[in-house]
Order: sequence, then structure tokens, then C-alpha cells
Amino acid sequence: MNRLHARYPFLEAAREAVATQAVDLATVVAEDRAVVDRARERVVRALEDGEVGDPRRDPRTELLSYPVARVLVSLAGERVLVRRYARAEAATAHERFTADFADTTELKSVETTGVGLDDLLAEFDLTGAVREVDGGYRVGVGAYLRLSADLWGDEWRLVNRALADGEVPVEEGELLTLLREAVRERVADGLPFDVPEPIAAALEDDAEEIRERLADLDLTREIDTVVPELFPPCMKALLDSIQRGEHLPHHSRFAITAFLASIGMETDEIVELYRVNSSFGEEMTRYQTDHIRGETSPTEYSPPSCATMQSYGDCVNKDDLCERIPHPMAYYEKRLDDADEDDLDDWREAVADDET
Ligand code: SF4
Repeated sequence: MNRLHARYPFLEAAREAVATQAVDLATVVAEDRAVVDRARERVVRALEDGEVGDPRRDPRTELLSYPVARVLVSLAGERVLVRRYARAEAATAHERFTADFADTTELKSVETTGVGLDDLLAEFDLTGAVREVDGGYRVGVGAYLRLSADLWGDEWRLVNRALADGEVPVEEGELLTLLREAVRERVADGLPFDVPEPIAAALEDDAEEIRERLADLDLTREIDTVVPELFPPCMKALLDSIQRGEHLPHHSRFAITAFLASIGMETDEIVELYRVNSSFGEEMTRYQTDHIRGETSPTEYSPPSCATMQSYGDCVNKDDLCERIPHPMAYYEKRLDDADEDDLDDWREAVADDET
């Protein structure tokens, strides 16, 4: 167990170091409070700050805290925690390897405590998919699509890239972002898993503390009210288009679907709301909705801001309130706040009434 493993505990070599030392996790969690404390800190900091906190000086404690943190995430049993934890470990790794790379005159391996670009590319089987060209990089389109799948933003869309000969040009900072995604994928892989009983019992208090922190943060959506008449004009227009059976570009479908998911609608309800017209494409809607809601992807997406909606041409029919808010969700919240609660007819209740 060396400092490199402690700094990058998701590396295959770090996992092997733990395995070859025949570390028995049940004994560690029962007897080594320092490891468990650091593991709990990793998870709590991930939840609250989006990173995993400062490393302990002792490499053994630091390294072992990673598998124990994965156990804690599994015991808490919330998908949102898996996503946040993986994102935080990846953000911390990104910060560290960016610093490691900056420590060298070129992006090559550095001393034993740091990692080089070549090392990371090899770690994620990307050596053959990435090459350096004229101060930038070319990434094979397959690897690019996989690693950028959960990066939301115009610049990551393939149509905005000068794809040539099956390769996508990226700048150095973008390559590091793609590597961060590779780390996130690695960390999330296999989580949550079934935890053996003796380990679960030893960690129950720590897992409970994490569940309480999760509950305090209340990461579930707050709004949970569906009143289409109060939707922002952009979302009303997109919903109308879908209900008329018009074909919408991907960004528009994404915007309205993420909006509906964010106000508390389940996949079945979104499908139902779209169904006014029979040709809306149920299968595609289900797939996309599950993805956006984070059911089939590691990320729970938020609807785009007004600025992004404008850049896509999806901001239409602006009214007075639009001048005062930065986000369609803010628009809807304000409309709901201003409405008399007794007058709010939730669309879902109206549908349920119709069916009885
Ligand atoms: S300003 Fe914002 S809320 Fe209003 S229509 Fe445009 S995108 Fe929608």
C-alpha cells in the first residue's frame, strides 16, 4: 500500500494491493476506527461538498477508507447517494491528476505519488483511443461518445465537433474532463452491492448517520405539483408540440422531459401526458425519461436554464415574469407560489378522477 494507491484508490493496482495484503474488511471495520471515520467522512463530504475531503497522512488508513466508503454507500441504499459519491470521488481525482500533470513539463508520468496521463489512459484502456496532435488531442469517437454521454452542454455534442476519420478533437482540459468521467464510471461500477451481515452490523451506526444526512439534505424534488396552465411559456409550447405529434429535436425533448421529471412526474405519468396524440413515440419517451430521471444513467438531469433554452431557440412567447427569472423552474415555482392553493388542480388528480 503506497501513497499512489492512497491518492487514487480506484486504480486496479490499489484494489490488488488491498487484495494481496489479505485485508479482511470485517476485521478492519470492527477494529480500525480511523479507517471507518475516514470512510464516513468521504461519503458525508461527497454528499455535502461534492468532494471527498483531505487525505489522511497514513496511506493505509486512506486507502482502506475507500472500500469501506463503498460499503457505507451500499448500506445507505439510495441511488442518489451512489451518483453523488461517484461524482465526488471523480471530482477529487480530477483535481489531483490535474495537479500531478501540472507538476511535469509535459503530461508524462511523475514520481511515485503522482500519476501521468499515459498511466491513466492505460488504466481505462484508452491508450489506443487517444493521441496527441498539435498541442491538442484526438479521441476515438466510440470512447468519446461513451465518456461524454453524461456531460450536458453544447460543446460536448458530436455535431459541434470537427469529427474526422473517426476521431474527435479535444483540448487538454476537455480530455481531463473525459478522464474524470472514466473515474466516475469506475467508482459507480458495482454500487450498491450486497454487504455481508457482520460488516453491515459493524457499520450500522455509521450508515444510519449517512441516511440521516441524506434525509436532512432532502434531495428529492420539492415541487411535486403538475398544473400545466402555470408552466412557463417555453414548456407549454414544447408540450403542445409533442401533444400535436410534432417531431422535436433532441434538445427540445430533453428540456420538456427534464422539466416534467423535475416537478415530480413519474415516467408513466409523462408518457400519459404526452399521449394526447398517438404518434408521440412511447418507447423513445420511456427510454429518454428513465435516462433523465437517473433510473438508467448515473446522473439525474436538471432542465436547462433560460440562457440555454434561448441558445437552442426553445425560449418562446416570453412574458413579464420571464424578464425576472433565470430558469424555467424558477418561473413555475413563482407561479405556484402566487396561485391560491385551492385553485391548483393537479393534472394527475384530474386524470385519476376521469378514470373512476
Ligand atoms: S425566459 Fe425562461 S421561462 Fe421564459 S420562456 Fe424563456 S426559457 Fe422559458
